[in-house]
Amino acid sequence: MDVLKIENLSKKYGKGQNEVTAVDDISFSVKKGEFVAIVGPSGSGKSTLLHLMGGVDKPTAGKVYIDGMDIYALKEKDLSILRRRKVGFVFQAYNLIPVLSAEENILMPLLLDNRKEDKQYINELLTILDLKDRKGHLPSELSGGQQQRVSIGRALANKPSIILADEPTGNLDTKNSREVLELLKYSAKRYNQTLVLISHDMNIAGMADRVISIVDGRISSDEAVR
Ligand code: ADP
Ligand code: ADP
Repeated sequence: MDVLKIENLSKKYGKGQNEVTAVDDISFSVKKGEFVAIVGPSGSGKSTLLHLMGGVDKPTAGKVYIDGMDIYALKEKDLSILRRRKVGFVFQAYNLIPVLSAEENILMPLLLDNRKEDKQYINELLTILDLKDRKGHLPSELSGGQQQRVSIGRALANKPSIILADEPTGNLDTKNSREVLELLKYSAKRYNQTLVLISHDMNIAGMADRVISIVDGRISSDEAVR
């Protein structure tokens, strides 16, 4: 089953002389549980593409299907529900709430969605992310790698079918980057979640099942790793 299907997707910004085509007629599909890395030069349209996939930016043309649903045909309210339930975002900036503990930050999406936590799942998540003995700590009391693991926990708390990560290791050193990515990859595989990740670091992108290269808003190659 294709969890994610993108059809002739385009996004233009600006008008007249200032018009920029950030994403230019892109189509591809991603299977359940697949780990896809998106690579390409700065300004090639990677972030725009990721935002369009996650329902946070409207395309100029084309369609995005998540679990078979044409997401931009949904009403704004339904799109926001779909985003909360099916998509988990991880960014380069951790965006943690400074006055909440690691565990409270992770539980935030469930709170916002008025949903009860699955205690066993959350505990397992804390174990996988190696945060068990840090769950009561504030973000300021955690290292960069630990803070990013909290933000991954927060993205996974809702058991999303898709995890979208934009340069999630951009602020971490090589060793921490690899560790954090291993954990993200492991948990995505464990729960059969689809992972789409942007990275300019080929060591990180090489951990994916498939690498899609974007140049000037278009796919220049799409290859299985190994
Ligand atoms: P990447 O993530 O590969 O660096 P982006 O998707 O951020 O690329 O940007 C692609 C192109 O779209 C760039 O030329 C960028 O300047 C332009 N762009 C991105 N976001 C906006 C915006 N909100 N308004 C205008 N232009 C934008
Ligand atoms: P890393 O190797 O991940 O960069 P650090 O060297 O930054 O880790 O931190 C080592 C340990 O010290 C971590 O377990 C972290 O929880 C703890 N720590 C780091 N900064 C603080 C702080 N400001 N207050 C309390 N504990 C901290």
